[in-house]
Amino acid sequence: MLADIEQIGRNPRTGGYRRDAWSSADMELREWFTHQAAKRGLTSHEDRNGNLWAWWGDPSVQGPGLVTGSHLDSVREGGAFDGPLGVASAFEAIDLLRGDGFQPDRPIAVACFTDEEGARFGVPCIGSRLLTGVLDPDRARSLRDDQGHSLDEVLTARGREPGRLGRDDETLARVGVFVELHVEQGRALEAPVGVASAIWPHGRWRFDFRGTADHAGTTAFEDRDDPMLAYAHAVLAARTQAEAHGVRATFGKVRVEPNNANAIPSLVTAWLDARGPETEKVRALVTELAAGADVTEESWTPEVTFDEVLRTRVACVAGLDGHPAPILPTAAGHDAGILASAGVPTAMLFVRNPTGVSHAPGEFAEPRDCVSGVIALAAVLADLTGGGA
Ligand SMILES: [Zn+2]
Repeated sequence: MLADIEQIGRNPRTGGYRRDAWSSADMELREWFTHQAAKRGLTSHEDRNGNLWAWWGDPSVQGPGLVTGSHLDSVREGGAFDGPLGVASAFEAIDLLRGDGFQPDRPIAVACFTDEEGARFGVPCIGSRLLTGVLDPDRARSLRDDQGHSLDEVLTARGREPGRLGRDDETLARVGVFVELHVEQGRALEAPVGVASAIWPHGRWRFDFRGTADHAGTTAFEDRDDPMLAYAHAVLAARTQAEAHGVRATFGKVRVEPNNANAIPSLVTAWLDARGPETEKVRALVTELAAGADVTEESWTPEVTFDEVLRTRVACVAGLDGHPAPILPTAAGHDAGILASAGVPTAMLFVRNPTGVSHAPGEFAEPRDCVSGVIALAAVLADLTGGGA
């Protein structure tokens, strides 16, 4: 299934993917999702916030169901597995169950959440945040991409109704349990399949370092007000202070104005991603780095601890050779975290990542581990939907 979509949004030069939300690549992937649903006789629809759902069974008749899936958008120059592995595995797990003649006692759905990475509008998990009401629809509509287009304009151009964005209790009420399968994004998993215990608290902050534009040659050092220096200090401090606090901090995106090689900049805008096992330490780091900059918090996701009873059960069912699957925390954010915070019983399965590379073209999972992931997911779906063959 992943081979079907491997050319969509792929940069042939680097092998990296660029699947921004609502880009033509994303539209193609959405069509692929709907086609996969139709091929299997699943009832698919797009909710008010742009998330896709494909139902086996009818939640409006049978009550809330078990939802599995992930996302199809990518970071810029991302890998092939982050997101799509969870969506493809969800369809494959349904095929496996049906091949065994399994009849679930409650409906099962495949979900694809829109704009999980936040590559385009800066806020991650826009689809699940809108669905659960933690992202204000007015704020969402006014978010702008690098070309200056607002989400409102982009959705309108794609024939959607941005006026209808916002918390969607009707859709949410259909989700009895959510299980997201995802490629592991570090090297913490030695078994083919693992189960998530928690997601570190994490956030994104925009730092605006302001200065005065001037000539690179004629302006004496003592006359300069160069924001690039403040930015450079912040980058180095982020590393040393993060190490001191036991958290992770990254400046991965920067914009310089006016961006001339022969001029002192007037403004350097940089984005900090910070996360760690303890909220207070992440917060302390951001406060320490804030000196000399105007800092805006663009997103914050509190720590998520997945339902302990559910994860223990999932680990037992997803295990191999009678051993429960290992349980591990993750430093990566997911839609599963947003749903868990909204009170939906949620679990995550991880598929081993041999190199630990993620959010980069080198992201990889062995085909046999992906198959183990599908088998584990099918076993979890069968266990949690309580049917019999
Ligand atoms: Zn992901």
